Amino acid sequence: MADERKDSLEDQFKDILKKANISFMMGPPPFQQAEPAGSKTEEKKEKNEDKLRPIRDFNLKPRDIRDYLDRFVIRQDEAKKVLSVAICDHYNHVRRCINDPSLNEVEYSKHNIILLGPTGVGKTYLMRCIAKLIGVPFVKADATKFSETGYVGHDVEDLVRDLVKTASGDTTLAQYGIIYMDEIDKIASSSSTMGKDVSGRGVQINLLKLMEETDVSLFSQTDLIGQVQAVMDMQRGKGPGKRTINTRHMLFIVSGAFDKLPEIIKRRVTNSAIGFAQGESGAPKDAETEFLRQAQTKDFIDYGFEPEFIGRLPIRVVCEPLSSDDLEKIMVSSEGSILAQYRADFEGYGIDFRMTTEAIKAVAQRSQEEKTGARGLMTVLERVFRNFKFELPSTGIKTFEVSQQMIENNQAVLQELLKKKETVRREAIASEIKGFSDDFKREHGLEIVFNKQAMDTLVDLCLAANKSGHALCLERFRDCEYGLKMIARNTGEIVFTVTKKFVEDPAEELSRRIAKSFEKK
Ligand code: ADP
Repeated sequence: MADERKDSLEDQFKDILKKANISFMMGPPPFQQAEPAGSKTEEKKEKNEDKLRPIRDFNLKPRDIRDYLDRFVIRQDEAKKVLSVAICDHYNHVRRCINDPSLNEVEYSKHNIILLGPTGVGKTYLMRCIAKLIGVPFVKADATKFSETGYVGHDVEDLVRDLVKTASGDTTLAQYGIIYMDEIDKIASSSSTMGKDVSGRGVQINLLKLMEETDVSLFSQTDLIGQVQAVMDMQRGKGPGKRTINTRHMLFIVSGAFDKLPEIIKRRVTNSAIGFAQGESGAPKDAETEFLRQAQTKDFIDYGFEPEFIGRLPIRVVCEPLSSDDLEKIMVSSEGSILAQYRADFEGYGIDFRMTTEAIKAVAQRSQEEKTGARGLMTVLERVFRNFKFELPSTGIKTFEVSQQMIENNQAVLQELLKKKETVRREAIASEIKGFSDDFKREHGLEIVFNKQAMDTLVDLCLAANKSGHALCLERFRDCEYGLKMIARNTGEIVFTVTKKFVEDPAEELSRRIAKSFEKK
């Protein structure tokens, strides 16, 4: 009876969802639910303990983290040091709290971080590498996609739910994850350029709550399916399940380019209201970095941040712009650099991809001109190699060494390479055809000579059918032996010239020649 009620409730929910045009699947809930007491719970507990082991056993020293980051991230030495210390402090505290939950009640100021610096210089990459090293989930979003109410864009709490999804629904692990919000400078209220429904200040306040400590519902208000699923799990006696996640131990990183901040700082430092001079040499960029290093809470407030918000971000780190030399180093020595990716891409087709030192320099220089940091590398490499990636896999090329000339004039070089490749291929096929004719002579004492047009046609056919010269000749001329021998008997000829016409229709041409040979007899 009770089951019947449950089913009818389930049907009713399905009906509602169907009317709302939402497909529904009975399957595991999007988040892990609490299991009833028993051996399964024990098993699960053990599994969770396992996942938490890297945090429970966290014993890295700042130098270990810095050394690890050095393998991937070029430059940003100061940022690496500051982050390494902040991360060690944070996860040491988390470890102590896991081992002694009473410490959760003790007041503790979290090491949330604000990263300043231009785009593409490694701000996100640093944090991604750190999250990977520690073994905690990591999510990133742009501040501009959030709105105060969650009506226009997304709700900042979605970030916490995304963290749970990244941890494959494991809320225990997710509560120690890292949340990264980029473009934070765009939600400074005085310089906000967003739509009327979106209030940067409101987003700051909401984010502030998350950064301090709050319980976030695992189901957003718009997640109808999740909510229905939770209700149904309750109906099925699965208990209330875990419905919220606490943000106490999550680490929050915000970042932005803060283009206008150096000017505010400069004004404070030099007490001058003159704008920032833009030189031609690119030197002001470094001056900007120097000013950013001197940023104080007041400067951020002048920029448009709430004092409480900026106060929750005690660790301030400045990342420097990358020079052309830095970009070169990224290509050559950063593990997992975009160049390594290209090497692997070509290797997938059995092509050994290499770049000369000069070619790497040329790519670095061009990338720097893009003014998007290391992202410029992707743009330039994609532009240079787009057509090579399309054409080379079909040419049978085994080695592809990229020269500086190739970077500077990639289209012409590709055409030349393809032409050369085709000439080489045609010559190889012609030699196979010649080999067939030699074999034929050896076996039957009759010589087949292909005239130029016949040879060209045969090579064209081989290329079109992707066959070797030998295979195509066997296919076309295998049955000619008997006919040619007959002609030889009638006329005494033992050398036969094969014409284009013969290649195109061997049976027809051979019959014609046989008939003619009888005339001569
Ligand atoms: P942002 O500073 O805007 O957060 P990212 O960290 O997302 O930039 O950088 C984009 C990509 O460029 C990274 O995924 C990484 O591959 C590469 N990259 C950026 N900076 C560096 C660096 N300093 N060293 C090595 N690779 C870098």
